[in-house]
Amino acid sequence: MSYRGRFAPSPTGELHFGSLVAAVGSYLQARSQQGRWLLRMEDIDPPREQAGAADSILRALECYGFEWDEDVLYQSTRIHAYEAALDVLRDQDQVYPCACTRSEIQAMLDKQPQRALAPVANAGPVYPGTCRYGLPEGRNARSWRVRAHDVHIDFTDLIQGKIIADRQHHADDFVVLRADGFFAYQLAVTVDDAWQDISEVVRGADLLTTTPKQILLQHYLQLAEPTYAHLPVVVNREGQKLSKQTGATPVSCDQVSATLSSALAFLGHPLPQDLAGAPAQEIWPWAIRRWHIEAVPKTATS
Ligand code: GLU
Repeated sequence: MSYRGRFAPSPTGELHFGSLVAAVGSYLQARSQQGRWLLRMEDIDPPREQAGAADSILRALECYGFEWDEDVLYQSTRIHAYEAALDVLRDQDQVYPCACTRSEIQAMLDKQPQRALAPVANAGPVYPGTCRYGLPEGRNARSWRVRAHDVHIDFTDLIQGKIIADRQHHADDFVVLRADGFFAYQLAVTVDDAWQDISEVVRGADLLTTTPKQILLQHYLQLAEPTYAHLPVVVNREGQKLSKQTGATPVSCDQVSATLSSALAFLGHPLPQDLAGAPAQEIWPWAIRRWHIEAVPKTATS
């Protein structure tokens, strides 16, 4: 199969340096292999979205000189596909309804000694399994969860190496249909990576713990498993991931050359002197020729 990569931003804010780095890494990995590079707008979480963010992300990608193949896929147009996937999971008894609220889960976890967790960031609390074998008397379903606590998934990430998810390493019954009625990222991303024939997923390592969940869904739904490469995550001075919540500033169309150069340096590909200050049209051909995923560090080095 020919290479098909993608960048899949959520329109929760403007493009900041952290998301630019993910776009640059996935773009170069695709273009250096004469592959196609697709854009998918993950607009299925209205409570977190910001009006105008999808358009502003596309404009920023344009002024940085990205060229994408095919039409942008908007996940908001794909709800029927997520419903169909959930039906399959229900038919195969691989999901179950869950009545628990966040505060109930937290209260149960507070009572239990937390199990030792592997050193993977952002894993979140582990669901204690209350509704796994049936809803408690008199309680109604709020969300739907995937049966995942007994599984063992491992995969080899092109940058981060071998990753294991099992009972000791965050395997957890995760939500695919949320209590507010929206589909969860895990289901939508899995269905659409398959639908768009994505052969390799290149994205930030903040999403590393989500990958075993997506691989499990690929097994359950009999979808092809892409390869994965998780890029180092950009953090601010306080060591927090750049995001709208941590006050990341949007990338500017007035400083394309300098910002692109910083993104490349962050990814282990510093620009040569003679390209300093060059326009994006001159930087891209050099970066596509030079790109080597082996040169990308596992974590931020500066
Ligand atoms: N939409 C997700 C985000 O912006 C990324 C999804 C992905 O690359 O798998 O965090």
